Amino acid sequence: MKQIVLLGSTGSIGDSVCSIVRKHPDSFRFYALTAHGNWKKAVKLAHEFLPELLIITDKVAYQFIKKQSLPEQTQLHFGSEVLTQIVKEQSVDLVVAGIVGSAGMPSVLAAVASGKTLLLANKESIVSAGELVMPLAKKTGATIIPLDSEHNALFQCLPNGYQIGTTPRQVDHITLTASGGPFWSMAKEAFIDITPEQALAHPKWNMGAKISVDSATMMNKGLEVIEAHWLFNMPESKIDVVVHPQSAIHSMVHFIDGSILAQLGPADMQIPISFGMGLRHRLSNGVGFLDLIQLAKLEFFEPNGEKFPCLSLAREAINIGGTMPAVLNAANEVAVAAFLSDQVGFMEIPVIIQAIMQGHDVQAVESLGQLEQVDIEVRTITDKLIQRK
Ligand code: MG
Repeated sequence: MKQIVLLGSTGSIGDSVCSIVRKHPDSFRFYALTAHGNWKKAVKLAHEFLPELLIITDKVAYQFIKKQSLPEQTQLHFGSEVLTQIVKEQSVDLVVAGIVGSAGMPSVLAAVASGKTLLLANKESIVSAGELVMPLAKKTGATIIPLDSEHNALFQCLPNGYQIGTTPRQVDHITLTASGGPFWSMAKEAFIDITPEQALAHPKWNMGAKISVDSATMMNKGLEVIEAHWLFNMPESKIDVVVHPQSAIHSMVHFIDGSILAQLGPADMQIPISFGMGLRHRLSNGVGFLDLIQLAKLEFFEPNGEKFPCLSLAREAINIGGTMPAVLNAANEVAVAAFLSDQVGFMEIPVIIQAIMQGHDVQAVESLGQLEQVDIEVRTITDKLIQRK
């Protein structure tokens, strides 16, 4: 029986993890569930899964949840500092990092520092703090398994025994596939009128709001290039991106002899998540199979840099290195939030990020504290830039 800490239990990653646990109740148990604002769903999950701990990180939600009845064995706690404590506890076997954005960073680092097995869905922590996370994992022996579908696909294509963080042997390069999001075939002239509602309607994957917008700008793929750079210890130049509208291939490994291994399957996060939870052993998950006849064809296109400048901004950030990826990430989070609240247009997102990157004095990455400081500063100046618009 594996004891799980599920960070971000009410989000879309949380949903998939819960449905795997429902299907394998003899193999997994939630030791702790965490949630931010969605206290109603958190209470429901607590009654269903009877965790020992329920941690709420939003103050208002915590006030509400205190008045609810919780299962007798479930202790309620408040605060994000608690997250970094519980991931270290001895009885914890698996930590699932499903919190979106920079908010997930401290708990990811804490899990890695204590040598845990970390199922990583929070790409922002690797993007911003890869330079801290990867050497730390090497030092503590922490096992990282990526849940991001592309990186999980690459992991599936690499031989048993391959360790995340090392350069895979006999591999020439890798290709990340991108669905292209909802706008890849739209004319650039029409981009100016894109609304949040349109950006949230992703054609292939059902995801949270932030990642859906990232997918629409293709920043998601840019962040994934940076993520792949750290997870597979490969230079940015060896990480290709192709638009593959069918979203059947989730990524590919090109070996030195010209062979390509790809992972295919329905676009359902339960596949990468169950592979991670099973620690490379495949678990039944009820997802079903691709209908190859119906699929009929697999297409690949070069991403259009003019329509999707976020992809090259991300490549630029990782090549500059140091604190720049953290700056890219923080500016993007603020710009996306502003877009979602109708403060800026879709086309302004990359313009804002680029302006913030240009104004940043790059430092070498030294500590989480330093990155958190950079994160706060970047958020403040990005906010100011948006207010002036
Ligand atoms: Mg992905």
